Amino acid sequence: MISFNKPYFSGKETEYIRQAVESGKISGDGIFTKQCHKFFEDKYGFKKVLLTTSCTDALEMAAILINIQPGDEVIVPSYTFVSTANAFVLRGAKIVFADSNKLNPNIDADLIESLITPKTKAIVPVHYAGIACDMDKIMALADKYNLFVIEDAAQAVDSYYNQKPLGSIGHLAAFSFHETKNIISGEGGMLAINDERFVERAEIIREKGTNRSQFFRGEVDKYNWVDIGSSYLPSEIISAFLFAQIENLEQIQNKRIKIWERYYNNLLNLELDGNINLPFIPNYATNNGHMFYLICKCLEFRSGLIKTLKENGIQAVFHYLSLEKSPYFIDKHDGRFLPQSEMYTDCLVRLPLYYDLQNNDIDDICNIIESYLCKSKKVTVVH
Ligand SMILES: *Cc1c(COP(=O)(O)O)cnc(C)c1O
Repeated sequence: MISFNKPYFSGKETEYIRQAVESGKISGDGIFTKQCHKFFEDKYGFKKVLLTTSCTDALEMAAILINIQPGDEVIVPSYTFVSTANAFVLRGAKIVFADSNKLNPNIDADLIESLITPKTKAIVPVHYAGIACDMDKIMALADKYNLFVIEDAAQAVDSYYNQKPLGSIGHLAAFSFHETKNIISGEGGMLAINDERFVERAEIIREKGTNRSQFFRGEVDKYNWVDIGSSYLPSEIISAFLFAQIENLEQIQNKRIKIWERYYNNLLNLELDGNINLPFIPNYATNNGHMFYLICKCLEFRSGLIKTLKENGIQAVFHYLSLEKSPYFIDKHDGRFLPQSEMYTDCLVRLPLYYDLQNNDIDDICNIIESYLCKSKKVTVVH
């Protein structure tokens, strides 16, 4: 059985957790958390980084930071994880869903301007599969209409847009270290702050609305309730685990990209018969090996492919269900048809991709896909 995902362990995780335990301090913002912060700030040039308990929490912090009020509108792709929208819904925002590109599932930047109204407060691009959205276009709209941009970079660690690290372009960005991402801590996330105006308040919101961080630095002589907030900081146990992962980031990325490229090269000639398409990476974007997906010509074709792979012991999975049609949102949606998002809902399938995936497994998976394609071609001829 080849599972869809298998968490990577560097081998140092338990040692660092032991060190955290023996240090006698396992609540948040200890030595390991600080080392993680420094790593991300130095490597990617984020102005300020704060580890959080999840990407979902980092998005919630972002929604508080930009002062979302009931009735504010936030433009979000419909082909995304619920947290991208939920974080803003929790503050009373009205979500305006945008469609995806034809060539990849990212938000179609050319459609955004038509969705902007006087109530629009933010755009939340999601770098699907770690592949950059068209950030120049999005940032230009943000400038023109005075909007905030919050990058949902949950899948986008160590990926770039025109040489700029993803997560360093918007005013704020949220990353995930969930077990299914490239580097992991079980559950975990990070808020990257690129606009200096948010730094002080972000620390307060993350510490239950208190100025405790300033107190520990000796900047104030007592700490107090100064704002709204919640408990968004992870314990040192989580940060110790994460630190063991980021030490091996380069190795993890190289391996995942190699796996991705093997899939791509193996499957490239199958694109010609028109039943599947391979991932599209624009010139301005890099591939961080987060995910390998195929776009099937229709839902039936995809169901058949997933079933065939399953019969051969391989777990391939579809992904998001277009959020404007979800049970929670369907009666709130303005009725616009989002054809590309629905196409990805029906046609996208993700193949196993994890650090320990072996070359012969990749080749087997590709051979099964190829024979499925041949068989469906024969069926087409008979009809
Ligand atoms: C994984 C993911 C999230 C949620 O991350 P958590 O850390 O589990 O909260 C949000 N958005 C996208 C696009 C994701 O892929």
